[in-house]
Amino acid sequence: MLATKAFNADSDLESDSGHPLNLHFRNKKKNGNSLTSGSTGSPINPAPGEPYRSAFRYMRLETDIKRIQQLAQQREEANWAFRCFLKGSDLSIRGIDFTVHDLYREVSREIDCTNCANCCKTVHPVLKPADVRRLAKHLELSVNEFRSRFLADNPEREGSVFRNLPCPFLQDNLCTVYDHRPSDCRSYPHLYKRDFVFRISQAFSNCSVCPIVFNVYEQLKRELWRQRPR
Ligand code: SF4
Ligand code: SF4
Repeated sequence: MLATKAFNADSDLESDSGHPLNLHFRNKKKNGNSLTSGSTGSPINPAPGEPYRSAFRYMRLETDIKRIQQLAQQREEANWAFRCFLKGSDLSIRGIDFTVHDLYREVSREIDCTNCANCCKTVHPVLKPADVRRLAKHLELSVNEFRSRFLADNPEREGSVFRNLPCPFLQDNLCTVYDHRPSDCRSYPHLYKRDFVFRISQAFSNCSVCPIVFNVYEQLKRELWRQRPR
């Protein structure tokens, strides 16, 4: 039988960036939807290695996925323009990464993935062979049996994807194979990684899928774009 696990786990640390952030924080709202961090940081030109952080207060977080989808669609042009701005800007890549990691940490604290699970309902994670072997073993199936029951070839890249969405292992917004889930699931929404500037198209496309990405992107626009020197 599958063991039902909480969808989030503070112990799931990602290591490839060296940044101690995890996917899917198990975080409950503490103060409603408004972030009240005392983090003010510096304005547009920080010391080397410091995040680009503004002094003004955080916006109210948007957590309703329907509203997020509407807003992401309405703001698609502006979001694309911000992507182009960031790619062409002379802001330091490291400073941008620190800012994104900072925002990711703070926004993730306020959003409970178990109230959402939208990525598991709408995004196909890519499974590598090691993921397939691990899941098959956990489910006491042969690799071939696992493949024939759950997987399809990934038409876009190497690897496999779950044949159906929502993910067959999602039950009541919880991942039933949490400790054995694919590495792509562990990484999502990928904001802890380095070189955000080179990944910004991925964040742009996840704005309409993931409340964490949507809110990080919105705050990033506020902090790096609308205050830029003109
Ligand atoms: S879509 Fe984003 S907020 Fe929702 S469960 Fe996935 S990672 Fe968490
Ligand atoms: S295995 Fe399925 S339910 Fe679990 S995290 Fe991945 S997509 Fe979500």
